[in-house]
Amino acid sequence: MSEAVRFERVALIGLGLIAGSMSLAMRRAGIAGEITGYARSAATRDTAREISLVDRVCDSAQDAVKDADLVVLAVPVGAMADVMADIAPVLKKGALVTDVGSVKRSVFDAVLPQLPEGVSFVGSHPMAGTEHSGPRAGFAELFDNRWCLIVAPEGAEEATVEKLETFWRALGSQTERMDVGHHDLVCAVVSHAPHLIAYTMVGVADDLSRVTDQEVIKFSAAGFRDFTRIAASDPTMWRDVFLTNKEATLEILGRFTEELFALQRAIRQGDGEHLHDYFTRTRAIRRGIIEAGQDTDAPDFGRAKKSD
Ligand code: NAP
Repeated sequence: MSEAVRFERVALIGLGLIAGSMSLAMRRAGIAGEITGYARSAATRDTAREISLVDRVCDSAQDAVKDADLVVLAVPVGAMADVMADIAPVLKKGALVTDVGSVKRSVFDAVLPQLPEGVSFVGSHPMAGTEHSGPRAGFAELFDNRWCLIVAPEGAEEATVEKLETFWRALGSQTERMDVGHHDLVCAVVSHAPHLIAYTMVGVADDLSRVTDQEVIKFSAAGFRDFTRIAASDPTMWRDVFLTNKEATLEILGRFTEELFALQRAIRQGDGEHLHDYFTRTRAIRRGIIEAGQDTDAPDFGRAKKSD
């Protein structure tokens, strides 16, 4: 596969963490002619102009996508259908549309029925993010060495899928193809359910802090602190993830609850062997993640001392 890719005009719909990082990574790679962008609120568009996040910020999504060869839908999953309805009439013949949504079945349902003749769609999911959002949150290195899952609908042209893979690799990602159902299940395990658990744990601690007079926050140790970082993620994005990846998330939460009960029973019965075996198995998973280069082995997750 050739690693050369270039789009003369790229339109980013949504100007938050992911779109902003894509713009900066595209500039770094020199693979786009003009990058246009649009976000719903005037405030976000003004900020994007002020920091030159893209080459041209437009006041409508239609203006942004006019003549674009690549259109990226970088809005919350629940907004994809409305955005697609807005831009579909003006998409250029031969254009490639992709999204960066964290859930894929619902994006397929939102986008594919509205796709005009002569326009292709292949989904992308960069497995990279931070708890920050908005136009100032982006940075060019966000995708470096992170996976981007490529989710093609049935019948997608091989050359189009390959072009999108090459694009993401130019942005620094590694790519892997996945079918839509498998994507949503895998993401429920590695991302969606863990976020819900973090939200819950921080909520429980917040209730408790009223009893313990803020000690939960004052003495927050590494485990809890990491939960708070995840639980600071964008509320709109995560609301949409759970509403649209309902089945897979509920399936994983069902399994999680069963395991939690088993551990609860082991604690009650003083079954140290069960606990030790369980924690040994989970420790091996952490080692696997580090060996795969997806996290750092630095103690305290590589945090600078001053941020402690
Ligand atoms: P973000 O920083 O909150 O940015 C979202 C952007 O979408 C904002 O510019 C917002 O504009 C715009 N927007 C919202 N509704 C819109 C609409 N109806 N029409 C036009 N623009 C609209 O979010 P993000 O983190 O970049 O996430 C974008 C997508 O990437 C989501 O689908 C998310 O699931 C996916 N994703 C996120 C992560 C992550 O960790 N953050 C990772 C992988 C994939 P305003 O500012 O004007 O509201």
